[in-house]
Amino acid sequence: MTIKKRIVVWYTLWMGLLAILLMAAVVSASDILVRREAMEDLAEEVGDAMEDAWMYDGRLVIDDIDFYEDGIYIQIFDHNGNLLAGMDDDDFPALTYDLGTVTDDGRWLVLVNENRDGLIVRGLMRTYGMGSYIGSVQILSLILLPVVIALAALGGYFIVRRSFLPADRAIEAADRIIDSNDLSRRIALGEGNDEIHRMASAFDSMLDRLEEAFQKEKQFTSDASHELRTPLSVIKAECEYALSHSDDRGRMEEALRQIDRQGDRMMALVGALLAIARADRGTLAPKYESFDLVELVRVVSSSLEDKAGEKSITISSKMPDSLVVTSDQGMITRVLVNYMSNAIQYTDEGGWVLVRLRDRGDMVEIAVEDNGIGISEYNQARIWDRFYQVDPSRSASSSGAGLGLAMVKGMADALSGSVSVESAPGQGSVFTFTFPKNPRKDAE
Ligand code: ADP
Repeated sequence: MTIKKRIVVWYTLWMGLLAILLMAAVVSASDILVRREAMEDLAEEVGDAMEDAWMYDGRLVIDDIDFYEDGIYIQIFDHNGNLLAGMDDDDFPALTYDLGTVTDDGRWLVLVNENRDGLIVRGLMRTYGMGSYIGSVQILSLILLPVVIALAALGGYFIVRRSFLPADRAIEAADRIIDSNDLSRRIALGEGNDEIHRMASAFDSMLDRLEEAFQKEKQFTSDASHELRTPLSVIKAECEYALSHSDDRGRMEEALRQIDRQGDRMMALVGALLAIARADRGTLAPKYESFDLVELVRVVSSSLEDKAGEKSITISSKMPDSLVVTSDQGMITRVLVNYMSNAIQYTDEGGWVLVRLRDRGDMVEIAVEDNGIGISEYNQARIWDRFYQVDPSRSASSSGAGLGLAMVKGMADALSGSVSVESAPGQGSVFTFTFPKNPRKDAE
């Protein structure tokens, strides 16, 4: 059963119940009112008759009594129950002497009273008149009831249908999106602040995110294939070159060295892609071990010395004598290599690179500073994205495809750390990597 039907059925049932209760109340209230009014009329007529009849010289004198008026019969008896005035009828109940109280035998309302001359005055009123009045109220109620219920159901149905119209439109729009496989479409219900409009706009926001994620995924796949194709085509070309010069050892060696370099490039690229994909899935599991971070910085610095020397860049460091941490040495090495080779790559001849290590209690901060070309604020927000390069012709890191910093960020996530950059174009940059010094055993 749809929500619409459920609401209409419940609403109609409740309206019906309410109408029945209301009508029952009206019928019983009208019954009480009619009887009360009849009793008052009866009491008034009997009271008048008591005033207007008296004994004079042993004879009954009557002054202007209507013995039948407005359905009320008036009779006057003596003390022995002999009828002195008024009509008699076989249908009338037998005379009783319940003085002053109205009795009701189901057919007649009767009031008997005695006046000051000892005359018994009886007033009678048929109750079937009242009954028929109340009966007609009942009949009217019974006719009105289904009409009220039908109107309530109809009204309810239209209101519910109107309120759910946007929901129907939203469902149609969602179906169209599914059928067309087009994530750029939106439900777009327009203005409105009711629940359905809010739900539709929540769906639209979700579609925004989905579209963005799909777009990124597509971009990632196409960028990755593109980056892998370049070294592959070089390898292919070098193989053909080597094969066609198989008798020339020198040329063959040259081709093999080129193949070896491209192989390294591909290895680095695939390694970075794998690390990023694992970090995305949350499966980049660190291998924790204790090591001296100062020692590691020294090793990485000396491995990059040649590269820095080519541009007369000096590498220096500010660090304690020793800083033992428990972390993934492989990951921290890759972070250092990425930050430092970037710093060398994006710093002009004669510049400097400074590595600082800071012990911040539970955390350790690695900062790699340079006085290189710097990064604009716009690009600072984007350099952590995969394949993003400010100037692709100046690429640096191991992958050389704009993957280095994305991988560093993935590692920060895996190590429960964080990354940041401070930079100004033309003045240099400071890249930091902060991570827990001794992650708890249970996090290992
Ligand atoms: P790649 O170095 O392969 O291009 P990265 O992900 O390591 O990729 O870096 C992304 C981009 O960030 C680089 O292309 C470069 O434009 C910018 N960048 C990184 N480090 C620095 C730095 N120290 N100084 C200036 N720009 C930098």
